[in-house]
Amino acid sequence: THLGGLKESLRSPGSPWPAELIALGPGGSARQEVLRKIQELSDSIHRDPFMVADLDMLASRHATFRQALPRVWPFYAVKCSSSPWVLRVLAALGTGFDCASQVELEQVLSLGVAPSRIIFANPCKASAHIQYAAHRGVKLLTFDSEEELTKVAKHHPEARLVLRILAEDSKSRFPLNTKFGASLEACGHLLTRARDLGLAVVGVSFHVGSDCQTPQSFAQAIADCRRVFQMGHGAGHHMSLLDLGGGFPGAEGSEPAFEEMASVINAALAQDFPEDTGVEVIAEPGRFYMASVCTAAVNIIGKKAVLGPGGHRKLLYYLNEGQYGSFRIFLREPTPRTPIVVKEFLSEPRLFPCTLYGPTCDAFDRLSLEEVWLPELDVGDWLIFPSVGAYTCSMSSTFNGFLPANVCYALGPQLRCLEEEVGGRAAGDSARA
Ligand code: PLP
Repeated sequence: THLGGLKESLRSPGSPWPAELIALGPGGSARQEVLRKIQELSDSIHRDPFMVADLDMLASRHATFRQALPRVWPFYAVKCSSSPWVLRVLAALGTGFDCASQVELEQVLSLGVAPSRIIFANPCKASAHIQYAAHRGVKLLTFDSEEELTKVAKHHPEARLVLRILAEDSKSRFPLNTKFGASLEACGHLLTRARDLGLAVVGVSFHVGSDCQTPQSFAQAIADCRRVFQMGHGAGHHMSLLDLGGGFPGAEGSEPAFEEMASVINAALAQDFPEDTGVEVIAEPGRFYMASVCTAAVNIIGKKAVLGPGGHRKLLYYLNEGQYGSFRIFLREPTPRTPIVVKEFLSEPRLFPCTLYGPTCDAFDRLSLEEVWLPELDVGDWLIFPSVGAYTCSMSSTFNGFLPANVCYALGPQLRCLEEEVGGRAAGDSARA
């Protein structure tokens, strides 16, 4: 790893320790840190939502990915969480980056990441963004249409193009196929059109949809890529890059296990792209890296009790974080998230069907369409949402003037080069400036 560089990159010049970084002691977790901060706020009227991001967990996810998929180099999908700390840690760990826009390119390049470690993996890009990529030397670009080839020929003739194909995504929680991906039937024409425009196509990519539930989607897509490689060679392209996209599930303990998924992928690679072909294999994981990194604490700011059908008591809780803040993705998830209640009860509390609303004046601002079962709670009580690192902060807005949860970043002992500095403080001690 390249952790030596991390030490310097985490320190902004002139300041000994960045304000939003805190230290986690050995065995410390984001959950413990969240509970400690809740305790700290117990006498305060200010109970804004916050998150703790465990950067050690991020390093662990990278290690797990590398171990399970040794032939696949990860290009982290910046859209999943574009926090500077996340990007800095990953840059120091040596990952590549999948950027979707000029702003994401700027962000990653500003960290000193070499342009060769970036793929501009949005198949439909604005001409100005393509021109920017050319200007900054970012050459790997995906495409899935003839129009895109025309733009690239005009603004970035030196690009190394990657053809994004359609992949079976019906087994994913967040399908993408209606928007992106060329059908196998369309590939032949796109490859000859690229050649005729003088453009180099170097590889093939796909995306099985985010939070994919079966490794068979990857195996099928890898087999399809082999066919497209043959078409590419036939059209005179030198095909050398296979990009597996994202889609790897994020939650720890998800089924099928990541390792199981990885072994099916490894077998498919061995069959369709044996190592002696020299084909470089990359992927664009987002959710897998980030989901478990963040834990959120949210406060109940309002409450109503209503009678449902049959006279059953229901509770409406109004939280200070919701659909327009960091929890936008929740409404698209297949099952509602039930938070952990931070409250002690003398005996097992009775549970009620509850609706969790966000703080804005929009009735659509709720965490899920279905009710969740929770005990009777009070205004001022805290709820904890684990595994909220993926597609949360990066999708938030300030609608109605509500700021999304503030995030503090925790470094633990796993980021070894920082151990000296971190270790000097007591476990969980805040290192805020
Ligand atoms: N690559 C591309 C092109 C994407 O559109 C996405 C997500 O939308 C990703 C990678 C990351 O996917 P995931 O978070 O499922 O790994």
